[in-house]
Amino acid sequence: MSAYTATNTTTQNDSIYLDNAASTPLLNEVFLEMMPYLRTHYGNPSSLHKHGFDARRAISAARRRVASIIGASDKEIVFTSGGTESNNLAIKGALECRSKASRRTHLITSKIEHESVLEPIRELEKEGFEVTYLPVSNDGIVNPDEVKENISGTKTAFVSIMLVNNEVGTIQPVKEIAKIIRSTSKEILLHCDATQGVGKIPVNVQTLGIDLLTISSHKINGPKGTGALYVRRGVRISPLLLGGGQEALLRSGTENVYGIVGFGKACEIALSKITSNEREISIIRNYLVKKVLNDIPSARYNGSVIHRIPNNAHFTISGVNGEDLVMKLDEYGIAASTGSACSSRKQKSSHVLKAMGFSYDEVTGSLRISLGFQNTIQEVDRFVTILSQVIEELRKFSPITPRL
Ligand code: PMP
Repeated sequence: MSAYTATNTTTQNDSIYLDNAASTPLLNEVFLEMMPYLRTHYGNPSSLHKHGFDARRAISAARRRVASIIGASDKEIVFTSGGTESNNLAIKGALECRSKASRRTHLITSKIEHESVLEPIRELEKEGFEVTYLPVSNDGIVNPDEVKENISGTKTAFVSIMLVNNEVGTIQPVKEIAKIIRSTSKEILLHCDATQGVGKIPVNVQTLGIDLLTISSHKINGPKGTGALYVRRGVRISPLLLGGGQEALLRSGTENVYGIVGFGKACEIALSKITSNEREISIIRNYLVKKVLNDIPSARYNGSVIHRIPNNAHFTISGVNGEDLVMKLDEYGIAASTGSACSSRKQKSSHVLKAMGFSYDEVTGSLRISLGFQNTIQEVDRFVTILSQVIEELRKFSPITPRL
């Protein structure tokens, strides 16, 4: 069974791609809509002739599609180069504006945010902002009561809490947190990094009560290098990039027209299939989890079972090193991950698992499987068979004793 037909993408033969949280295959429909903007419709959207008008019109159509997937108005969408830039723009842009106008110098975030949230916040901390890093439970969830205890009606300027964690797939109680913030002060802004949530679960900025929200195109079968920041009407932020004043002065630079067009199409498709994809992918994920836990006694399933996106399965496997495991799986044509693709390049151990109270050995033996619409039950069967073999092979050389 597959949530969508595999012919809709160009995949490599025989390989099994189980790393959709890192990036997703581009849909053919998306590619086809992008093509003319790479070749025939090459105008600059700011130009005052037909070529410019065509490009401008395509961006407007994409803006409406992106707005739709989060229940926003098109005027509230700022196109960026992706999730990283949107997070930086939200955090630095909002606080640049705020620090001049108010004396609020306290920020709240969680210990399990993506580096593109944590790094700009650490930079602000060095500049004198006071930061509260909220802990999470053992199953990877922020407790809204922690927000209540740490928020200050007069000092807190900004709260940034992700919607879905990129490693363990846990869904954070953003709506409850928004309620606490609103009842504390109208001057506190709430940013939500929804990079891993949009397109996987229904997201509505009105219902959630968010001021700023990050989306990335390549996580939802769109092209890389494109994303958006939702900026609620009335919220003022400063731009990171100055120049020609594109994107309502918030993001100067000639727009990535073909990327934006592809992003818009990917949003339209993701929105139309969200319910069926959610259901079908979760059936495959639940099958995978059951099979791994049954066939591999040293595997433990991590993160909340209930508050979790449908395509994530995260395990710790006792007695093996996660990086060795991922590299060995790759030799068999299986693409998986130890956690975040960005962190693995930096060779850092997972700050998310540490925040969840994992021991050094547990952090080391982690394996993240993130499914996409293209995956099938047959692939899961093959994956689990190969995983068992690979673990046996690695154990022969491992100094770590498995805990069964
Ligand atoms: N936030 C989260 C939660 C992510 O998973 C990622 C991508 N790994 C990003 C932000 C950054 O997105 P992008 O790759 O589009 O810069």
